[in-house]
Amino acid sequence: MAFWGDYHTHTVYSHGKGSIEDSVLKAAKLGLRELGITEHGFNHLCYNLRRGELARMRSQIEMLAQKYPQVKVYVGVEANILSPKGKIDVRGSDKPKLDITVCGYHKLVRAFPAQPQYFFPNNLGLSGAKTVARNTAAYLSALEKNEIDILSHPGNSCKCDVREVARACKYFGTYFELNGKRISLSDDELAAVAEEDCEFIASSDAHEPRRVGDFSLPVKRIEKLGIPLSRLANYERLPQFRSRKEAKHTGDNENAMGEEL
Ligand SMILES: [Zn+2]
Ligand SMILES: [Zn+2]
Repeated sequence: MAFWGDYHTHTVYSHGKGSIEDSVLKAAKLGLRELGITEHGFNHLCYNLRRGELARMRSQIEMLAQKYPQVKVYVGVEANILSPKGKIDVRGSDKPKLDITVCGYHKLVRAFPAQPQYFFPNNLGLSGAKTVARNTAAYLSALEKNEIDILSHPGNSCKCDVREVARACKYFGTYFELNGKRISLSDDELAAVAEEDCEFIASSDAHEPRRVGDFSLPVKRIEKLGIPLSRLANYERLPQFRSRKEAKHTGDNENAMGEEL
């Protein structure tokens, strides 16, 4: 397969329908070399992974590595942005247990203290200047303070200045995701992101094994704009994830669940 990895997928551990093995099997059939199992973050109200499950995921994945040595599987989460100050629901103590961190905006997320000024306008579908500025600041702060490897579905349910977000992704070495289920950006917005020269990655966001490795929507959208597939970090190459590089980010999020949100 022209794509070498799919780094954003879900299983029964959060919102998905299949087992980790079902997804690995599908990845192996497709000839993918790498697969990220990235369950919904701990503070999601409906589909959250429980912290205690990370160890069970890890041991299953280690067993599967014997059975399917051709697919390298990463233990991950799709974290939630919890506040305009960029807090996410990955604690410092979670980091050693994770191989990869995907992060994005989701509705129905628990935040302490509550952040109604952040969640309500988005959940109501508002897109006024104040909302856009707040969301853009939230993305920028989250990227600065946390080792986010992939920013999932930017702008989805969360209108923002995508050019600014793309610049920040480039600066911090986070991949800007083209999501296989939904791309909320207009062609103009997508073209603006491409102009900023950030690195794209295509993900399936599969919630069932049969969709693992389905990149048809990202491919369709970028081909329409004449953006070469080589701009995708997982197309005929393997991505270099920020959290796995020597150079560390500038900020930190040790108090992800702390007082100052
Ligand atoms: Zn998501
Ligand atoms: Zn997802």
